[in-house]
Amino acid sequence: MARKTTEEMMQELEYSIKPYRKDFKTFTRLPKDGRKKEEIIKEMEALNAKEEPKWKDGFVSGAVYHGDEDHIDFLNQVYVLNSQSNPLHTDVWPSTTKFEAEVVAMTANMLNADKVTEDPDCDDEVGGVVSSGGTESILLAMKTYRDWARDMKGISKPEMIVPRTAHAAFDKASQYFNINMKRIPVDEGCKADLSKTKDAITDNTIVIVGSAPSFPHGTIDPIEELSELARENDIGFHTDACLGGFILPWAAKLGYDIPPFDFRLPGVTSISVDTHKYGYAAKGSSVILYRSLELRRYQFYTTTDWPGGLYLSPTFAGSRPGALSATAWAAMLAIGEEGYKEIARKILETGAKIKKGIAEIPELYILGDPLWDIAFSSETVDIYKIMDYMGEKKWSLNGLQMPPAVHICLTHRHSQAGLAEKFIEDLKSAVESVKANPDKETEGVGRLYGMSANIPVKGVMDAFMKRYLDLLYKI
Ligand SMILES: *Cc1c(COP(=O)(O)O)cnc(C)c1O
Repeated sequence: MARKTTEEMMQELEYSIKPYRKDFKTFTRLPKDGRKKEEIIKEMEALNAKEEPKWKDGFVSGAVYHGDEDHIDFLNQVYVLNSQSNPLHTDVWPSTTKFEAEVVAMTANMLNADKVTEDPDCDDEVGGVVSSGGTESILLAMKTYRDWARDMKGISKPEMIVPRTAHAAFDKASQYFNINMKRIPVDEGCKADLSKTKDAITDNTIVIVGSAPSFPHGTIDPIEELSELARENDIGFHTDACLGGFILPWAAKLGYDIPPFDFRLPGVTSISVDTHKYGYAAKGSSVILYRSLELRRYQFYTTTDWPGGLYLSPTFAGSRPGALSATAWAAMLAIGEEGYKEIARKILETGAKIKKGIAEIPELYILGDPLWDIAFSSETVDIYKIMDYMGEKKWSLNGLQMPPAVHICLTHRHSQAGLAEKFIEDLKSAVESVKANPDKETEGVGRLYGMSANIPVKGVMDAFMKRYLDLLYKI
C-alpha cells in the first residue's frame, strides 16, 4: 500500500475531528436574531447522546474519573447554584473564597500538612491555591521556584531537573518561563535515576521534580531520596501527585505498600494534586500546595500602578469560574474519607485484575511497577497495532513512546462488573489478530505513533502537530 501524503493524512484527521459538519449547522457569524433556546438545548442533547456512550461504559483511559449518574447530577446542581460566581470579586462571593480555602485545607490535610506545623524547626505552615488543572498547578509551581531562586539566591539562569517520564507540563513551564530543563533518564523500573539526578545539580538548579506516580507508567519515583537530595542542596522539590494525590493516601490505608511522597518528607516543598481527576470534581480544578506561605507568596501577582485599581490575583487567570471550585468542595464533602477509600479500593482491585491478565499474555509485558495506571508493551508484536485493534473494540487507550507502549489509566468507570475481564479478553484477541496479520495497516491513532517513531528529522512531527492544532479551529 502506498504511503499516504501529509495532505491525505491531514484530510483524514480533519474528518475525524469534525464529524458534525454534515448533520449540524455550522455558524461562522452571529445569527441575526437569537435562536430559540429550546432548539439550542435540543441540539446539544443530540451531540451529548452521540458522545456520552464513549466514556460512560468505561472504555476510555482516564478522562472521566467518576461519572456515576447520581454524582454527575449532584455536581450539576452545585454548578447551577454557583454559575455566576467569580472569586476575583471576593466581596461579592465570599462563599467561593470559603470553598477554595477549605478545598486547599482538606487536600493539604490529606497529604500530611500537619507534619509541617508540628515540626519544631519550622515556624511556617502549608498553604496552597486552587488552579484550573494539573498543568496550571505545575506551571505555577515552576514560576514560583524561578522567582524564589532569583530573589533568595540571585539565580538568573535557572535550571530544573525533571525525570524523562514527568508530565509534559514541566517542559511547557520550561519553555514559557525560560527555565532550562535537564531531563533525567529513568531506570529499568521506570523510576528517576538518583545518581544522574545528583550529577545534574548545579548552582543554578532551582527545583527537582518527582512524580507520584508518573502519567505514562503509573510508577512512583524515589521521592524520599530525590527530595532529600534537594534538601541537602537547598533546592526546591516538587512532587507531582496530580494523578496519585487522591488515590495513594487511601491505597496506603488499604494496605498497599506506598512509599511516602508528601509533606511527611522534609524535603518536599510543593505538591500538585488534581481535584478534577480522583477528587471527582467537575473538570477544571486542581490544587497546588507549598510547604510555606512564604514560598507561596512568590506565586502571587499584585500591582499598585494600574489605573484600573489595586489589582491582585493568586493564579494566572484573572476572572475564574467559582462554580468549578464549588464542585470540588461539594465532591469532597459528599464523598468523604470512607467514600474515597472505597472508590480507590475498587480501582486498585480492577488494576490488580488487569495486571494479572496482561502478565498471562506471553507476548506482552508491563512497564514499571504500576497499581492502576498500567502501561504495557511487547518485544514481538507492534504495540501500536494492538492499540488500534483495541480501538476497533471501542477501547480508547493512550499511546506512549520511548519506549513504544500503550496505557490504560483506570478510573471509577472501570469498576463496572466484567469490564476488566472484557479488557483482557479483547487484548488477547488483539494480540492474536496482530500476530496473524503483522503487515496489515491500521487506521487508528496508533498509526500516527508508528509514523512518528519512523520520522528521523527533528521538527517534522512538531510541524505536523501544529497543523493538527490549526484543524481544531477550522470551520
Ligand atoms: C494529568 C496529569 C497532569 C496534568 O494535568 P491536567 O489536568 O491535564 O493539566 C500532570 N501530571 C500528571 C502526573 C498527570 O497525570
